[in-house]
Amino acid sequence: MRHNHIARTVLLAILTVSNTAAAPGVRTASPPAKVPPGYQVPAAKDLKWDRDRVTVKLTSRGFSQGDIVYVEITPRERAIDDAVSCEYRSRPVLLAKYPWGYRGFFGIAPADPPGPGAITVLLATGSRLEKHHLPFTVSTTRFPVLRKTLNVGKYTNQSYLAKPEVSAFIKKCADIKKEIFARATPNAIGARFSHPRDEHYVTSSFWMKRLYQRFTIKKGRRVALAPQNNTHRGIDLRGKEGAPIFAIADGVVAYADTMFYEGNFTVIDHGNRIFSYYMHQSKINVKTGDAVKAGDVIGLVGSTGISTGAHLHVSLVVNGVQVDPLSVLPIRARE
Ligand SMILES: [Zn+2]
Repeated sequence: MRHNHIARTVLLAILTVSNTAAAPGVRTASPPAKVPPGYQVPAAKDLKWDRDRVTVKLTSRGFSQGDIVYVEITPRERAIDDAVSCEYRSRPVLLAKYPWGYRGFFGIAPADPPGPGAITVLLATGSRLEKHHLPFTVSTTRFPVLRKTLNVGKYTNQSYLAKPEVSAFIKKCADIKKEIFARATPNAIGARFSHPRDEHYVTSSFWMKRLYQRFTIKKGRRVALAPQNNTHRGIDLRGKEGAPIFAIADGVVAYADTMFYEGNFTVIDHGNRIFSYYMHQSKINVKTGDAVKAGDVIGLVGSTGISTGAHLHVSLVVNGVQVDPLSVLPIRARE
């Protein structure tokens, strides 16, 4: 009895110590905010380089084509704090500054070649520039090809799309998206990510090659045209009309309204040119300017816009590179 009490006291003391250790600047492993029952988050792969003046860590689901990669740069000296930069394949990796160092994300584009890859980390101190070339291997992702051609209802009818009021709306939607995705706001991503649904069932996978049927109306008759190639720039997840949609990361709502192809459409700006977007909703629960957290219900599943049935389409873009949105889930971001 007495022993038990002592053991408990010691245990409590240890717990108190580890709580203190979880102060800002110390790694905390936050599991995803929300994952569907039975869904196993894939294990993350970590790579680490210790150099004289800096430690660099990369984390990714697989370092595969279409994966997001998380970068952590921890300088060993304060002196180089203000001059750290990073790039991957000549594309800048936008970094957010923390008291302990820097962190950022980049996307391995579906079209980036598999095989040798590398990031470059640049440290500048006064007139001295130090360049670290940190190699890793990009794995191949086999993106599937859908054999059947899809009938997307009125969106298949080229005569309908050519109507002046329809084509004007398509143009207006394209202009809005162009403006939003060109924005560069400060980092808003915290430590946690979330699965976007309360059920995990992928009905159309990331970067699947698809064909859309096309026809036109000539002299009142339907004339078939060659199908149009389409690349699936996100994933489709099963969901009944009205099922919840969760924000995959913290951010600010950049757009929440109806678009031509996307239907009820929400774009979340996560800062540093990272955006997630959610299509075909039956209801939008947020408005432009709202701050959201990973796991917040931002809308409900539906079948608005170009859709063959109720589902959620979710996409993730990292500095112009489309990645599989579910590839964020294994990442534990430091704050
Ligand atoms: Zn889709």
